[in-house]
Amino acid sequence: MDCIFCKIAKNEIDATVIYEDNEVVAFDDLHPQAPQHKLIIPRKHITTLNDLTTEDESLVGHIYTVAKQLAAELGIDESGYRVVMNCNAGAGQTVFHIHAHLLGGRAMTWPPG
Ligand code: AMP
Ligand code: ZN
Repeated sequence: MDCIFCKIAKNEIDATVIYEDNEVVAFDDLHPQAPQHKLIIPRKHITTLNDLTTEDESLVGHIYTVAKQLAAELGIDESGYRVVMNCNAGAGQTVFHIHAHLLGGRAMTWPPG
């Protein structure tokens, strides 16, 4: 499958990996939208949030646990951060392998654009 995030997970293409375990990989976003902008992906290929099954519940929970751990390590846990997953093109999804954006280090506005 020609999936750029599967390739990052398999270490077939370069990324600045900041955390990995058996289930997930976290790395710097190539085009950061905040002073801290990391992506957390499952190693398992899941195309969009619409493709999640109940089997994936613990995996998605783990992504959030890793996000809060990284936020603490990056020093943005107290100032505030956002964890976002875009689903499908209308929401801004451009890479079709689910990923959580971890954004912080600046004030965020609401609602998002
Ligand atoms: P989304 O628009 O929600 O699908 O997010 C995809 C994100 O992946 C964007 O923020 C891109 O900047 C980022 N991205 C795309 N290719 C790479 C890559 N090779 N390494 C790191 N980040 C990437
Ligand atoms: Zn993939």
